[in-house]
Amino acid sequence: MAADDILDQILDECRRADRPVVVFDLDSTLFSTAARNLRILTEFAAETGVPPAMAADIARLGVDDMGWNVVQDLQKRGHADADSLARLRAYWFERFFTNEYCQLDDPMPGAVRYCHDCCDVGATVYYLTGRDEPGMGDGTRASLRKHGFPFDVPHATLRLKPRFEMADLEFKREVVAELPAFGEIVGCFENEPVNANLFAAAFPAAHMVFLETVHSPDPPPLHPRIVRRRDFLRAK
Ligand SMILES: [Mg+2]
Repeated sequence: MAADDILDQILDECRRADRPVVVFDLDSTLFSTAARNLRILTEFAAETGVPPAMAADIARLGVDDMGWNVVQDLQKRGHADADSLARLRAYWFERFFTNEYCQLDDPMPGAVRYCHDCCDVGATVYYLTGRDEPGMGDGTRASLRKHGFPFDVPHATLRLKPRFEMADLEFKREVVAELPAFGEIVGCFENEPVNANLFAAAFPAAHMVFLETVHSPDPPPLHPRIVRRRDFLRAK
């Protein structure tokens, strides 16, 4: 009987494929960035001084309140003080893309186990991230190891952007052109619609999974064959 769950279908196909590869984005795909964002917000309030009503709201926020953008998280709650929001934007930007802060991320539910399942059926787990090597490489490797993702094994590959300034889409486009040399692309996991669409178009035979976490504003419509998932939890 054919597996209903896309996660199981990918594993089944990996068992049959020659040199199977499964591609995983990191931020908001394998990892939730909510704890990273929340820490930056709470440190901002504690260290820089913000209007009392904003400080009170920040103190009430939890990881489940974190969206794609901490500034919008406050604007949604009615905060419009332009000076505070501009300072927060700069404060966040200096910290979010760093080795230190990216280690605050928690894996998405089921993510560690599923990556091991992919390795166990013979797949290469290919971590493809817009994080940059100079600013976030060491922290990313430490985080993958700390949380027990397959990493220091022959069938796990981490690919980071060579420099911060490079656009994520440009970087992923370049890697997409190289990926077939690694083997047969069986599945791709992404949280950014524009990247998911890139993979869907480049690898028509692969399963494309979109993680319903957070993503950047004004996304294009998802390619019709992309499947949505909230996490990596499997029924069995
Ligand atoms: Mg992402």
